[in-house]
Amino acid sequence: MFGRAPKKSDNTRYYQVLGVSKTASQDELKKAYRKSAIKNHPDKGGDPEKFKEISHAYEVLSDPEKRDVYDQYGEDALKEGMGGGGASHNPFDIFESFFGGGSGHSFGAGGSSRGTRRQRRGEDVVHPLKVTLEELYNGTSKKLSLSRNVLCSKCKGKGSKTGASSQCAGCQGSGMKISIRQLGPNMIQQMQHVCSDCKGSGEVISEKDKCGQCKGQKVVQDKKMLEVHVEKGMQHGQKITFQGEADEAPDTQTGDIVFVLQLKDHPKFKRKGDDLFVQHTLTLPEALCGFQFPLTHLDGRLLLIKSNPGEIIKPGQCKAINDEGMPHYQRPFMRGRLYLQFSVEFPEPGSVSLEQIRALEGILPPRPLRPMTDMELDDCEETTLLDVNIEDEMRRKQQQQQEAYEEDEEASGPRVQCAQQ
Ligand SMILES: [Zn+2]
Ligand SMILES: [Zn+2]
Repeated sequence: MFGRAPKKSDNTRYYQVLGVSKTASQDELKKAYRKSAIKNHPDKGGDPEKFKEISHAYEVLSDPEKRDVYDQYGEDALKEGMGGGGASHNPFDIFESFFGGGSGHSFGAGGSSRGTRRQRRGEDVVHPLKVTLEELYNGTSKKLSLSRNVLCSKCKGKGSKTGASSQCAGCQGSGMKISIRQLGPNMIQQMQHVCSDCKGSGEVISEKDKCGQCKGQKVVQDKKMLEVHVEKGMQHGQKITFQGEADEAPDTQTGDIVFVLQLKDHPKFKRKGDDLFVQHTLTLPEALCGFQFPLTHLDGRLLLIKSNPGEIIKPGQCKAINDEGMPHYQRPFMRGRLYLQFSVEFPEPGSVSLEQIRALEGILPPRPLRPMTDMELDDCEETTLLDVNIEDEMRRKQQQQQEAYEEDEEASGPRVQCAQQ
């Protein structure tokens, strides 16, 4: 296809150096490299040449693209391809990136290691997890059963009975297809996309060679029970991560399962940070003469809420109780405040008799009024106070305005047309 006959040279030596089979997975390669690199490290008295060889073999085989080239054309083709770049890697760099040496980045943290940079990373699976405020206050654990893909145990994720597979004809084994689009006279756009024939694996398995367990899919469905520990004081939106528990796929670093906490509304308590808020309505006698009531907390304890003797509570007034708010995340012995906001319910019209009102007037502080003189009354105009619901009134007004505007629009429509003719 390329007009160049594949040159067959040795393409097994790197595998022998690492002591793995030609079909070794990335994981197996990594383990084998780690083992022999430790054994042969010059610091531990190993042969520097041998160490260099091990590192080079791993550098090639851990890179899916280079490994492909090596498998097909051998070492020489690789030298041709790599020669121009001049990017000769110091084997010690790879080693350090593996074991978190001087360069400061450790393997596994972000896959930033040079040797495995090209390995695909599987997608994270994100699940929302509904929790009540009680559960965030007390902490809880939830068992969840999830189904996921795992590498087929029978074929070890190869998909074939014998481990043999042939190169995908659709992409020549690269797993990617390139399409070219003409955008203009001197402009073309080159687009790369995953090969649909082999789904990016670069290989096809013949029908009779397909693994019986996974039907050549390389993965099978598996059910797994996860226990999610919701700790005291966790927040709405906080993530709980299970590393490497998402769908497995061949030559892919498995992604994470991430649970995102979703707090359900609570009928009584609201939360802001580590503080809790409760609205409580007092009757007028309670606001004036004192009150006490039990408040059931999020852990079922009863708190006695009471006013100080002689204290009067105004509508909208707030009070706070220390250390009865939410426990702090990871320091649950520390807690925020519990705020109480009071509203005051006044007696319904007609529920208090004129005698009672007179009696009240005798008890309450005097009204600021002095009787008006006849002359002053003569200067005033009489008015009538109507009962209204101010919100309804405003809504009605707005609606009227909207209708008037729309009528205006309709009226002006034809006039514009006339002017144009
Ligand atoms: Zn393909
Ligand atoms: Zn299988």
